[in-house]
Amino acid sequence: MQVTTTQKVIAAMMVEGTGRHMLDSGGAYGRHWEQNQKALGTDPDAAAELLFSGPGIHFHRTYGLTVSTPHFMDANLEYAPEVDKALHLFADQEEWARESWPAVLEAWIETTDYTVEYSENTYNGESLLSQVLQYWALAHPTEDHVVLVQLHNGADVRGGYTAPRAFHDLEEYALAGDGRITAVCSHDPASDALEGMPPQDSEPHSWDSDDAGYSFYPADSETQDFKWEEGELPSCPVDGSRVYFHAWPVDNTQEQWDHLYRDPSPALDALRTLAARLGDIDDALQAERDHRLALMQQARSDGESVDAIAKALNISRQRAHALLT
Ligand SMILES: [Zn+2]
Repeated sequence: MQVTTTQKVIAAMMVEGTGRHMLDSGGAYGRHWEQNQKALGTDPDAAAELLFSGPGIHFHRTYGLTVSTPHFMDANLEYAPEVDKALHLFADQEEWARESWPAVLEAWIETTDYTVEYSENTYNGESLLSQVLQYWALAHPTEDHVVLVQLHNGADVRGGYTAPRAFHDLEEYALAGDGRITAVCSHDPASDALEGMPPQDSEPHSWDSDDAGYSFYPADSETQDFKWEEGELPSCPVDGSRVYFHAWPVDNTQEQWDHLYRDPSPALDALRTLAARLGDIDDALQAERDHRLALMQQARSDGESVDAIAKALNISRQRAHALLT
């Protein structure tokens, strides 16, 4: 997989340590940057490859829908190296070393022809994002729009933001789409057509949400409301078919959703048993290693993600990735 400069910058933000601020207790699940470093390593290039080969939308039977923040950024932003460099040259001056990022940004903007159009923290609205973003959208009389983005990488939302990085937004207000998601029925209405007759409907059933998936309204006024119970998999209320989600503009491939609906691979269970028996996987004999690798490859070709395999073996995603390639 060929990673872009934008993806490398985003990956670097994901693994950027934001320290242990006094407000930042670590929380029940720890700090994002520590989790991200464990899963992705600290090399931004390798982290980018791991990160962007994974899915952009996650569905959990209890916690519902989540859009991966790095995928969302990648779909909406393009790294702006000149602006980023200018901002950081300014911020690296000694007089700004002890100031907060918002204060530094304000002072830097004063020295340029940029003006702040709006600023936002996604924590304050209905958001699907896996990690909070704080950003400033800047307009310029002659240059392209710029967005300065901080990623929340701590545990407590009041602190623990990365250094801001500069991007161009691919569409105006694109980052404001962090609460939008569309549910699309997998049933093809054209297949309902009577022989020799044109199909009645040409579009599949679909529903839109702009409040992070709490409520969906029909895209077509004649279709029923769409909802599902916690713990259940969503299905079409009209015909019972599987439903796929698209978070604009992050597209989820059908493959990722088919993965959700199918039974787990038996090889994954065998891996779990093997890991439990061996204790430390590094102590395994060569034969066991070959057996493990064969099971890993089988699980992969059964459609299991590297994540699921890493979890089954209780090793990092990076390690599983390395073993598999
Ligand atoms: Zn349907």
